[in-house]
Amino acid sequence: MGLLQDITAALAPVGLNLIGTTPSSDYEALVPAQYHLKQRFPDIKTVVVIGNGGGEFWRHFRQYVEARPGYLQQYDHPLDAYTVEAIRARLTPLLDAARTQYRLIYPFQFFSGLTVSFMHLAQAARLSVPSILGVQIHPRYGPWIAWRAAVLIDRDLPALSAPAQDFEPCSTCLERPCIAACPTQAVNAVQDWDLLACMKHRLRVPADCAERCHARYTCVYGREHRYPEDELAYHQRSSLATAQAYFKKSERAN
Ligand code: SF4
Ligand code: SF4
Repeated sequence: MGLLQDITAALAPVGLNLIGTTPSSDYEALVPAQYHLKQRFPDIKTVVVIGNGGGEFWRHFRQYVEARPGYLQQYDHPLDAYTVEAIRARLTPLLDAARTQYRLIYPFQFFSGLTVSFMHLAQAARLSVPSILGVQIHPRYGPWIAWRAAVLIDRDLPALSAPAQDFEPCSTCLERPCIAACPTQAVNAVQDWDLLACMKHRLRVPADCAERCHARYTCVYGREHRYPEDELAYHQRSSLATAQAYFKKSERAN
């Protein structure tokens, strides 16, 4: 098997079932210069983008922590810690054996001051496209996807399948139930997702979107792949905590 097929086969058993590739130049064409990978990794040619579609990855995470008492208390962000452990364990032997220069990066880590947009990496790999929800949408999994890691590689690799090629979910969506589902018009038809409006509403009425984002939940794509209830609540708690910390910091600064 080739390296990409090996990577795909190694990650599928833990629910990391969305794998795509993009030349680094295609990604850099989508983002401002401060996001360019070549600033830190001048030899990079290809990016392998890794994500999960649906709740399978979460189920593996749950099994992993259930077998390790105390794991959840050990980390501020246990899902991220598990992501690093799962990916390193599965990919490091393969990448080392391929005798390639590589670097594993994650959306929740900083790389010597470099910021990478994983949404744009996935878009360049044609795995998903932007939506009015503020998250990306995959033709099969809808908004129930997350980008977990990427491998920067110093060689050209062939393109993998591109499921989101020519996919235009929101401009062709007639029902748009997501707009009515949002209690504060953070999701609307006239502008991009209004992050500030969403966060202000959630801080004002914490119980309202505590269990899930209602707009995302009603998206017409990928409903059968919605995350399980406990995963939805985990992500909502985590984003609310981030918003609370952000607003507390800004209040202190003013
Ligand atoms: S429900 Fe329709 S308009 Fe809303 S995010 Fe999904 S595809 Fe886009
Ligand atoms: S979390 Fe709540 S306020 Fe924010 S976009 Fe979703 S439904 Fe709207």
